[in-house]
Amino acid sequence: PEAVSQALHDVFGFTHFRGVQDQVVERVLHGHSTLAVMPTGAGKSLTYQLPAVLLEGTCVVVSPLIALMHDQLRSATANGIRAATLTSADENRGETMARFRAGELDLLYVAPERASQPQFRDMLSQARIALFAIDEAHCVSEWGHDFRPDYRLLRPLLDAFPQVPRLALTATADHHTRTDILAQLGIAEDGLIVAGFDRPNIRYAIRPRESVMHQIRAVLDENPGPGIVYAPTRARVEQLAEKLAGATGRRVLPYHAGLAPEVRARNQAEFVASEDMVMVATVAFGMGIDKPDVRFVAHAGIPKSIEAYYQETGRAGRDGDPSVAVMFWGADDFARARQRLAEVEEHRQQSERQRLESLAGLVETADCRRAVLLRHFGEEPPAKCGNCDNCLEPADVIDATTIAQKLLSAVYRTGQSYGLGHLEKVLSGVSDDRVLQRGHDQLSVFGILREEEKPLLKAVSRALQARGSLVPTDHGGLALGGDARALLKGDAAMMIVRPPKKERRRRGSADG
Ligand code: ADP
Ligand code: ZN
Repeated sequence: PEAVSQALHDVFGFTHFRGVQDQVVERVLHGHSTLAVMPTGAGKSLTYQLPAVLLEGTCVVVSPLIALMHDQLRSATANGIRAATLTSADENRGETMARFRAGELDLLYVAPERASQPQFRDMLSQARIALFAIDEAHCVSEWGHDFRPDYRLLRPLLDAFPQVPRLALTATADHHTRTDILAQLGIAEDGLIVAGFDRPNIRYAIRPRESVMHQIRAVLDENPGPGIVYAPTRARVEQLAEKLAGATGRRVLPYHAGLAPEVRARNQAEFVASEDMVMVATVAFGMGIDKPDVRFVAHAGIPKSIEAYYQETGRAGRDGDPSVAVMFWGADDFARARQRLAEVEEHRQQSERQRLESLAGLVETADCRRAVLLRHFGEEPPAKCGNCDNCLEPADVIDATTIAQKLLSAVYRTGQSYGLGHLEKVLSGVSDDRVLQRGHDQLSVFGILREEEKPLLKAVSRALQARGSLVPTDHGGLALGGDARALLKGDAAMMIVRPPKKERRRRGSADG
C-alpha cells in the first residue's frame, strides 16, 4: 500500500485515488482479471498505468485507435513512464521490440489486429508480461455500440498467457454488453467493477423539434460559455454553423470528417482554448478532447443510442460546474433510424433494434431522465433527480390510446400509403380534391377526430413512430408496424406527454 500511494504521488502527481480506481488497481496488483466500467473522465488510464509501473514486466495495452495510443503515449512519457507504441505508423518498431525484449518497457500499446498476429505472440513470449489492458473493451461485443471484429481475435492471445491478468476497460456498457465482454474476454463475473455514472451537474432536457434553428439559438443565447452542437450530417453541420454564427454573432465553427485535417485540427484547438466558442459537429468530434468547461451540449437530432447520448452529453461539465444537455428530436429521426436497421447485418438487427427502443423510451418518458439513464447503466437511482426537464416541470401525461387507434385505423383504411397531412384531413373531415378523388370521404374514419383531439395528432404520430407502431413507407407515407395491431385491438395502451403549447397552436405543421 505504501508503494502504491507513493507511486500515485511521485509518478502521477495525485494525492488520492478517485472513485473506484483504488479497487481496480488493488485487484490488478493481486493478479485478478477485472472489467472496469468507468465513465469518460473517471481516470481509466491510471488503473493500468499505475500497476504497469509497480509490477515487474510490461503491461500490454490494446487500444483501437492510433491517435488515442499516441495521446496516451505522450502523457505516460511525460510522467516518466517507459512506454512505446507498436503500430504501422511507427518507424522505430525494431527499437521498440528490442526494448520490450530487454524488459525496458512498462507500457506497450498495440492495435488489436497486431495483437492477433503469430509473430507478435512469439515476441511476447520472449519477455515478461505483467498485465493485458484492453481499452474500449465494448468493441469486443456485438451488443456494444462500436463492435470491432479485430477485438474477437484477442482471446487466443490472452489464453496463450493464462497466468497474466486481464484488465478490460470501457466507459459505456449496459448490462447486456457487460456480460458479453466478461464472456468474450474470459473474465469471471465477480471481476466486474462499475463506477457511478451520475453526472449531477448536467441538467438534461429532451424536447420535440419544431424549428431547430430557433431552438438551438435559444440554447446559445441562454448559455454564453463554450458548447457543442451535434448535428446528424456534414451538410447540416455546415448549414447550422453558418446560420448560428449569423444569428447570434458568436464564434461558431464546424467540425466533421469531410473537412481537411488541418482545418479540423485548427478548429479543435481553437475550441479547446476558447471560453465562449460553439462547435457544431458530427459525432466525429469529441473523442479524446480534454476540455473541462464545456457548458452545454445540444443535439439537433437523436444520437445513435443511450450509450452514445451519455457519452456525447458527458462532454459537458467535466469541471463539475452546472451545465446543460438538450436534445431536439423528431419522428423522422426514428423513422430514418428504423430504415437503417434494415441495412444492418442480420445477426446484429436484434441488438440494434433494442438499442433504438431504449432510446425511444428515454425520449418519450415523462419520468426523470436521469433515472432512466442510470437504470440503463445498471444503477438504482432515486425516482427523481430535481435537475432534468421532467423533474423541474413535470410533464402532463395523457392517455392517447383512442387518438392512436383513430390514426392507425385511418392509416389502415387508406391503404397504408399516405402521409400525416392527408390522414389528418381525412380524420378531421376535410374534403379537398385529393380526399374526394380517392373516395376517402366515404370511409368510416372520415371526420371521426374530435376538436380537442386535433392538436394532439402530431404528437401521437411522433410517439407512434418513435415506438415503431407507425413506420414510413418508401414514398413518404405511413404504414402499420410493431404493436399497431395490439393498439387497434385495445390490447395495448399509449400514454404521451402533452406537447408544448406552441405546437398545439400550430397544429399539423410539418416537422422542423
Ligand atoms: P478516462 O480514460 O477514464 O476518460 P483519463 O484516464 O483520461 O480518463 O483521466 C481523465 C483525467 O483525470 C486526466 O486528466 C487524469 O490526469 C485525471 N485523473 C485521473 N486520476 C486522477 C486522480 N486520482 N486524481 C486526480 N486526477 C486524476
Ligand atoms: Zn430528473
